[in-house]
Amino acid sequence: MTIYLKRGKEESLQRFHPWIFSGAIQRIEGPEEEGALARVFTANGDYIATGHWQIGSIAVRVLTFSDETIDDAFWRRRLQVALDVRKAIGVAGSAANDTFRLVHGEGDNLPGLVIDVYGQTAVLQAHSVGMHCCRQQIAAALKEVMGAELENIYYKSETTLPFKADLGQENGFLLGGSPDDVAMENGLKFHIDWLRGQKTGFFVDQRDNRSLLEHYARGRDVLNMFCYTGGFSVYALRGGARLVHSVDSSAKAVELVNANVALNFPGDTRHEAFAEDAFKYLQQMDAGAYDLIILDPPAFAKHKDALRNALKGYTRLNARAFEKIREGGVLFTFSCSQAVSKDQFRTAVFTAAAMSGRSVRILHQLHQPADHPVNIYHPEGEYLKGLVLYVE
Ligand code: SAH
Repeated sequence: MTIYLKRGKEESLQRFHPWIFSGAIQRIEGPEEEGALARVFTANGDYIATGHWQIGSIAVRVLTFSDETIDDAFWRRRLQVALDVRKAIGVAGSAANDTFRLVHGEGDNLPGLVIDVYGQTAVLQAHSVGMHCCRQQIAAALKEVMGAELENIYYKSETTLPFKADLGQENGFLLGGSPDDVAMENGLKFHIDWLRGQKTGFFVDQRDNRSLLEHYARGRDVLNMFCYTGGFSVYALRGGARLVHSVDSSAKAVELVNANVALNFPGDTRHEAFAEDAFKYLQQMDAGAYDLIILDPPAFAKHKDALRNALKGYTRLNARAFEKIREGGVLFTFSCSQAVSKDQFRTAVFTAAAMSGRSVRILHQLHQPADHPVNIYHPEGEYLKGLVLYVE
């Protein structure tokens, strides 16, 4: 299909922004099939981009700004570059680490596509109808690029595709089918629940921040709030924590964290997990019980209109932690809401610090790791931010 833009609406594309909003489109020629490839032209009839078309506010997700064919070789080229980047970072091709994000959507010039690698299994997730339609082609290219290292490709898009597109999608293996679910991150083992877990089964994006936490853990009493699979807890144990308490409102998460602790430190009595609401737990716990606290909540603002309440939520949550953390304690606090900017998050946290009356210093300012790269033409891709604070 062919799309013609309204006059002047090519400007953001000339700056290589990878999205075309529906309001920018003058007319569409050819059959309008969701997920189809669209060649896009300016009002003057000049070619400007090719991408996946979809019904919705983001009408086209751009795959290329040069007039090339989107064939098997295209997917192989893009995936090869993505793999080269992960090798350059040092997260791929390492014996101690086989867990990494291979494709991070716009950050890898593949809007709508996420691929996480867990040992010999890749989990492929489509966030656009176009990527869903191309899943077999992408899987084949992925196998070629990764070679013998990759045995299974699991497709997990049930919850990430637009509901209205009614694609009848199912989660399932596109290649292989091994039930072996253990992957290695920085020498630590984790069960990855790609079948039922959140996202692709694991939060790969906290790898570097978990490593940093490990260096603060020695001799400390650690509270890992919103623990999910217990990534931070396992690193804290290896770092020599005196005790580690993991908390998540989901009973399933408590099972996962216990399984991951057992996998790395069988019989270690320093760890205990609780299924409890975060706010309730923080309110009821004794002041001074912990001197290393991690707050890694789910995105409080999924959309811009939820922003005000989200900021209040971050302030309330952090205020509780500041009130209760032991003197000389260290707080790791995060926001993964893309709609919340770094400055807004800082303001929310600093407001909480001021409310608690504690003296607080910034030790580190954290962000997403290098295998979640940000496309310079799509700064919206920056989503994870964190602060490490010393509380007097
Ligand atoms: N820190 C984790 C990722 C956290 S994901 C990691 O490193 O992998 C967010 C988690 O918060 C989810 O597991 C979810 O079950 C949990 N959660 C959501 N609301 C909660 C609440 N009110 N209290 C406690 N946990 C909650």
